[in-house]
Amino acid sequence: MNCIFCKIVNGEIPAKKVYEDEKVLAFHDINPQAPFHILVIPKKHISTLLELEERDKELIGHIYTVINRVARDLGFDEKGFRVVTNCKEEAGQTVFHIHFHVLAGRPMDWPPG
Ligand code: 5GP
Ligand code: ZN
Repeated sequence: MNCIFCKIVNGEIPAKKVYEDEKVLAFHDINPQAPFHILVIPKKHISTLLELEERDKELIGHIYTVINRVARDLGFDEKGFRVVTNCKEEAGQTVFHIHFHVLAGRPMDWPPG
């Protein structure tokens, strides 16, 4: 499968990893939109949020505990951060392997552009 994030999971493309376990990987975004911009992904290929199934509930819950841990490890837990998942083209999704953007280190505007 020609998926850039699956290639990162398989080690075919390098990434600056900040957390890894059996099911989840977290790494720095190649084009950061904030002083901290981490992507948290399931190792299993799921193309968008709409492809999530009942059996993925635990995996998605686990991803949020990983985000909690990464925020503490990198030290942006105190000031706060934003978690974003873009779903399909109109929301700006460009990589079709579900991912959670974790952005921190600057004030964030609302609503997003
Ligand atoms: P999306 O636009 O799909 O919500 O987010 C995709 C993100 O993946 C973008 O922020 C983009 O910079 C990042 N990205 C794309 N290709 C690579 C890559 O090869 N390595 C890393 N680390 N990030 C990537
Ligand atoms: Zn993939």
